[in-house]
Amino acid sequence: MINEFKQLRVRFAPSPTGKLHLGNARAALFNYLFAKKEKGKFILRIEDTDLERSSLEFEKDIIGSLKWFGIEWNEFYRQSERIETYAKYLEKLINDGKAYHCFCSEEELEAKRHEQMSGGLPPVYSGKCRNLSDEEVKKNQAEGKKSIIRFKSPEKKVKFRDLIRGEVEFDSSLIGDFSLAKDLVTPLYNFAVVVDDFEMKISHVIRGEDHISNTPKQILLQEALNFSQPKYAHLPIMLGPDRAKLSKRHGDTSVSDYREQGYLPEAMVNFMAFLGWNPGTEREIYSMNDLIKDFSLERIQKGGAIFDIERLNYLNGVYIRQKSLDELTELCLPFAPNAEKKQLKKAVALYQERLKKLSEIAELTDFFFKDVLEYNKELLKWKNMTDGETKEILDKLDKILCDISDKKWTKENLEKILMPEAESLKDRGKLLWPLRVALTGKKASAGPFEVAEALGKEKTLDRIKQARELIK
Ligand code: GLU
Repeated sequence: MINEFKQLRVRFAPSPTGKLHLGNARAALFNYLFAKKEKGKFILRIEDTDLERSSLEFEKDIIGSLKWFGIEWNEFYRQSERIETYAKYLEKLINDGKAYHCFCSEEELEAKRHEQMSGGLPPVYSGKCRNLSDEEVKKNQAEGKKSIIRFKSPEKKVKFRDLIRGEVEFDSSLIGDFSLAKDLVTPLYNFAVVVDDFEMKISHVIRGEDHISNTPKQILLQEALNFSQPKYAHLPIMLGPDRAKLSKRHGDTSVSDYREQGYLPEAMVNFMAFLGWNPGTEREIYSMNDLIKDFSLERIQKGGAIFDIERLNYLNGVYIRQKSLDELTELCLPFAPNAEKKQLKKAVALYQERLKKLSEIAELTDFFFKDVLEYNKELLKWKNMTDGETKEILDKLDKILCDISDKKWTKENLEKILMPEAESLKDRGKLLWPLRVALTGKKASAGPFEVAEALGKEKTLDRIKQARELIK
């Protein structure tokens, strides 16, 4: 056997036929963690041989998302740039009699598949073109008949030991003579993967469980080409909360969608790591570096990994609270494009503790950046207060606040001065509620003293004036 593995080398091999979705991102992360932990190499391979469905835009999305996570690669390849390599091996297989041209038409194949399925048989290729003579092939080609290249599958049981799932066995008669390439310059997935995994000296193939049925095909090809076999680890399927396979139906599935909603990469990495892996302890907060230290393939589970958005929200809150105010303000800027940075910083300070997603900042703090607030005057009233009572309170607030100097305009001072007034009303809501609503126009917000401090004296008084006009 050629190519024994001297070094640990893994690959992440996305097809740029869509944005990077969570399932694939997790595969990238697990490969990366494993490579880093074992001091091996991580290879990024763009599988873009399907020219019709692949696009540079998706490739950019995938690369952008990986970089955003902090996942870096040691080597980069694009399959579309390696066509000659595949052609070389295809020719070899054909010359060795291990692959052949198949001239069956799409309609013919479809009819056969249909017949097999309705007879309860597995839909495998009939083998019609398997034994065409060289002359027949040449004749067909001379007549311009279209063909694809198929693998001459040997009849046998294919067994391998999956590092996560243990012994796996497939019967090759259920696989049949699968297709390798549309023609010499258009290889298909299973074939291109086998060539690349060999040429790139991949020691471990770590990928989603949805690929497990491809593995026996790839092993048969490795045997035909006398390639050594990498170790395989198939990651558990990702499920929605209803235990159905995770799909668009469960909400966003692409990494860039999450990024646009204001999830932090640290939270996403921490979250994804636990989709199928756990450290075996109670600990749940893990940075990338912590994960690299503690990760192991042995601790990956077989059963489906359930995607729980509440957990992601929780983790995002944890990482938001860990940011310095300056960092968090910077991160929030794109989500509040009309805000001035200094003002935004004050607003962010009010909400850092309870923010779950950066995108919430716009709605939570919009009152900061408006000159006139729009709300129903009824909102100003606490419990069964009348218009008159509410107006009285607002007048009182105006009077008291007018006398507080800019210098003394702090949360603590405001509280010291206003709390006794509020307490004297027996129900402090009678003062605190109208004040808070006057300042924010919202049913729920940060506390009135914090908000008043952040708004500053002038704006605070202006808003109380607006409220008085509204209620009169
Ligand atoms: N291009 C395949 C995919 O995106 C890669 C599968 C593999 O890792 O072999 O699903």
